[in-house]
Amino acid sequence: MDISNQPLTKSERRELRRQSRADETASLRRRQRLKKTAILISIFFVIAAGIIAIARYAANQPPLTEADIVSRSGLHWHPEIAIYIKGMKQDVPAAIGLGLVHQPVHTHEADGVVHLEFSSLVKKDDLTVGQFFNNWGKPFSRERVLDYTNGPDGTVKMYVNEEPNDAFEHYVMQDNDRIEIMYD
Ligand SMILES: [Zn+2]
Ligand SMILES: [Zn+2]
Repeated sequence: MDISNQPLTKSERRELRRQSRADETASLRRRQRLKKTAILISIFFVIAAGIIAIARYAANQPPLTEADIVSRSGLHWHPEIAIYIKGMKQDVPAAIGLGLVHQPVHTHEADGVVHLEFSSLVKKDDLTVGQFFNNWGKPFSRERVLDYTNGPDGTVKMYVNEEPNDAFEHYVMQDNDRIEIMYD
């Protein structure tokens, strides 16, 4: 007797439908499990890559020594910077470093007073004349000040409290320093 041509009974058809639904559910679960595993693996790799990047960055940083630290509890100092180009005093504008981000090295008035306002750790690097010019967005080095470069027209010189100073942008500012930068 050939059963393939025989119509299925009601209960057989019900059983078949149940079976195919069960198969579908199982394969859906399998796909969900695979997707979950894939997501977990991706998250793991992203975290691992992050940790490796941070470790590499830390390994490349020179260790911070006591000699590099000026204060661990902040400071508020006021050195003054004056710039003369061929004897002409240049404007040092107000509100340098007081944009969207409030930089610890800034000016309030256009009087050349630099405010060094820190609330926690202060490193020597934070207090350099170069840091001030960075915040201003103007060049300064032994070769160049503002738009003036060493050449036949003049050279850059720096004085701190009337003494010639050779550190230029690397000079670490102190409270009440009187810093004069000349080009002539
Ligand atoms: Zn201030
Ligand atoms: Zn101040």
